[in-house]
Amino acid sequence: TKITDHIRNANGKPIFSLEVIPPIKGDNLKNLLDNIEPLMEFKPPFIDVTYHREEYIEQPMPDGTIKKIVTRKRPGTVGICSAIMHRFNVDPVPHVLCGGFTKEETEDFLIDLHYLGIDNVLVLRGDPAKPFNTFKPKENGYSYASELVEQVCNMNKGIYLHEGDTALSSSDFCIGVAGYPEKHFEAVDHTSDFKYLKQKVDKGADYIVTQMFFDNRKFFDFVDKCRQAGITVPIIPGLKPLSTRKQLTVLPKIFYLDMPEDLVKAVQACENDEQARQVGIEWSVLQSRELMAAGVPVLHFYTMGKSDNIVKIARELF
Ligand code: FAD
Repeated sequence: TKITDHIRNANGKPIFSLEVIPPIKGDNLKNLLDNIEPLMEFKPPFIDVTYHREEYIEQPMPDGTIKKIVTRKRPGTVGICSAIMHRFNVDPVPHVLCGGFTKEETEDFLIDLHYLGIDNVLVLRGDPAKPFNTFKPKENGYSYASELVEQVCNMNKGIYLHEGDTALSSSDFCIGVAGYPEKHFEAVDHTSDFKYLKQKVDKGADYIVTQMFFDNRKFFDFVDKCRQAGITVPIIPGLKPLSTRKQLTVLPKIFYLDMPEDLVKAVQACENDEQARQVGIEWSVLQSRELMAAGVPVLHFYTMGKSDNIVKIARELF
């Protein structure tokens, strides 16, 4: 089922959903599935599964040999999507990246997703591969998510990269893209960021999921500006409950966001991480209640490997 149909079928009632990250190679899939099992109580109709690239850097050697940087994709996204379908009977939403893929590799990847019966994809450019600061596409790959949206749309119409391939399969993916209430870190200003977000929607994106934020005003402003720009697709807020004191400084650096003063004060007053986790839960409940009252279609939680705090939040809300 498409995300847009899940939203329609909910008849205005907010949906609970989540995102999981594939474990580092070799780690146990059972741990991940067991960890999210308690969240099934809240009946998420879909679960996002992220995609990552990893870098291995070999440091310069004393004998003068050149340091080597190897970038490779982290496996797991497709397998975990399949496991989620089988174990929970929930729609998985694999993240599909520009970074690390040629157009042909993307086409093959999408064909596999279609064969698995996956109806939704979240299309992303991907972050620059560490230690670099600027994103570099793979040769014959894409520089921007909008180009990848176009490829998925073409495939939905039966148009493949190479002539003669048109009868391979007919996908009908519902396409999500990312939005940034506090601006994407590379965008020169909000205006240009909106221009390119609109471009993704104009090229065929069906819905938007936002980067995490802790100040609802940023989200409400973002939605207002999207609507003013003529973006009419559903906008899903992404939420991360703060869970350690360190995250107060780490999350703004990684995700380029502002922490509201009241949250900063409350976390600074905590004596340990357990107290900070409780503050994070309470903040997230307040945030969610306000978002629900404003009529958001979905509350989408970034689990980042732990779900006990999200269970507590969801119990208050659903
Ligand atoms: P784009 O929409 O391509 O935009 C990238 C930048 O380029 C922006 O600054 C934009 O304003 C600008 N831009 C866009 N089009 C043009 C153009 N035509 N000309 C000039 N500038 C342009 N990363 C992962 O690696 N794996 C994941 O699974 C993952 N999941 C995510 C899920 C969500 C909900 C979000 C919000 C982010 C996720 N990310 C993930 C991070 C994401 O890959 C990064 O934020 C990345 O830097 C940008 O991706 P994008 O799809 O938003 O890029």
